[in-house]
Amino acid sequence: MKNANPRDLTSPDQAVAGVIALAHHAGAKNWIPATSGNFSVRIDATDCAITASGSDKTKLTADGVIRAPFAGGTHPRQSAEAPLHYLMYRLSPTIGAVTHVHAQPAVLASLALAKDSRVRIEGLELLKAFSGVNTHETHLDVPVFDNEQDMEALAARVETRLKADGLGWGFLLAGHGIYAWGKDVAEALRHLDAFDYLFTLMLKLRGVPA
Ligand SMILES: [Zn+2]
Repeated sequence: MKNANPRDLTSPDQAVAGVIALAHHAGAKNWIPATSGNFSVRIDATDCAITASGSDKTKLTADGVIRAPFAGGTHPRQSAEAPLHYLMYRLSPTIGAVTHVHAQPAVLASLALAKDSRVRIEGLELLKAFSGVNTHETHLDVPVFDNEQDMEALAARVETRLKADGLGWGFLLAGHGIYAWGKDVAEALRHLDAFDYLFTLMLKLRGVPA
């Protein structure tokens, strides 16, 4: 596939390679059991490369990645959770990659550490892993949403809250998993790794084995 549009932020081939890299990283960390999880990378102002429904992403190849319109419309092979990826690209042109995993520390944190529909992370050095954070002397409130099978309804709830509270770098779905993003694949991976480490540490501090 050749990148014919000079305005593309990322060539389609690069985007597919990025999706595969994200999926393989998550698979190596055991974050996406039983065909769960999905990953996407922005191509341009209207489309992203995203994992198709159902496949085992730990062994993802280009066949399991589709080009889908996030600005409107659907793709016949898109996963049920694709609307949440599409939402993030619509919310900010600075978001270049979106990840969703079912990592156990994130699921545990969403249930055991949530208070007032958020998990507060504070006082930990690795908060500096998040883009724009320069000190550990801060706190990060990660939104927690009730899980929901109607993804369009969930996306509407997420949109309302993130527009009001700010985008941040991720949110939790209670008893389900985490969405995390970044300006590109490398930043999305760094944020996802940081969330995993910080939730694991917070759970240990609160006596919840992770
Ligand atoms: Zn999920």
